[in-house]
Amino acid sequence: MREDEEKLETLGEKNSFSKTDPDATFMRMKEDAMNNGQTKPGYNVQIATENQFITNYDIFWRPTDQGTLIPFLDSFQARYGKQNGEVCADSGYGSEQNYEYMFGNGIAPYVKYNMFHAEDKRKRRQTPFLIQNLHYNETDDYFVCPMGQHMEHIGDVTVKSDLGYESTVSRYSARDCSGCPLRGKCYKAAADRRIIEVNHKNNAYRRKAKELLTSERGIHHRSNRPIEPEAVFGIIKFNHGFKRFHLKSNEKVKTEFGLVALAHNIRKCIAINQQNMEKNIKTDAPKRFYIHLTWDWIRFSEAC
Ligand code: SF4
Repeated sequence: MREDEEKLETLGEKNSFSKTDPDATFMRMKEDAMNNGQTKPGYNVQIATENQFITNYDIFWRPTDQGTLIPFLDSFQARYGKQNGEVCADSGYGSEQNYEYMFGNGIAPYVKYNMFHAEDKRKRRQTPFLIQNLHYNETDDYFVCPMGQHMEHIGDVTVKSDLGYESTVSRYSARDCSGCPLRGKCYKAAADRRIIEVNHKNNAYRRKAKELLTSERGIHHRSNRPIEPEAVFGIIKFNHGFKRFHLKSNEKVKTEFGLVALAHNIRKCIAINQQNMEKNIKTDAPKRFYIHLTWDWIRFSEAC
């Protein structure tokens, strides 16, 4: 029992830990030599980039990205004393909690949600039974099903995520579906009436995010994303072979990745400098970069 209690204490709020590095959690890796989805102890590295320079980084134990966005943006604020006006990220970050944080803090979220591409596919748009295609009367708060029956609001339920965030889901029910000829196509539950659940707040955030994502600026951000953080990870992992941490524990791993990020930024700066020299373009980039480098070294020695 004592051993179990010690392990539970080490575990804390995580769902797993490694015996050789208790700060690391088991995650599914992209590198999967056995091709069986085996999990391995690791850290979730998050980076922010601007013109392929790493502007912020952090290390998380959570394998999923959803719960890392808010602390990551907070760490950006703490590092620079100001926040980004725009954030571009993939659909793994598009949750109600994250949207609420970004809209609430004056950040324009160019962040997709999980159905962003799928909801516009012709097959989905032409399926009348899907909730997204049911007519909603906002004034009187009811949905209309494909047979014209009103689905009235029957109550709300509160759902708590594993991050502790509470969402309100509204439930709507048809009056009677027993004699409906479309019953087989409409829903599969055994109940004699269809009940649907809708998160209005999340849907409103998604609509606003979609407006941003499909704007000219949004299309620019979306086309730039693959050549921003993805390319930086590619350079670090595949061009320079940094695929495993050499150190253990959160603090040391963070310091190690900080050095990797620093080296990446120096390489990038030198490459830009060389290109400018070849084109005979005068720039003050190296001088500015040196100031950042000194500042970062002070932070690292403190962390060590
Ligand atoms: S099964 Fe019920 S909800 Fe579905 S179309 Fe028929 S009446 Fe409407």
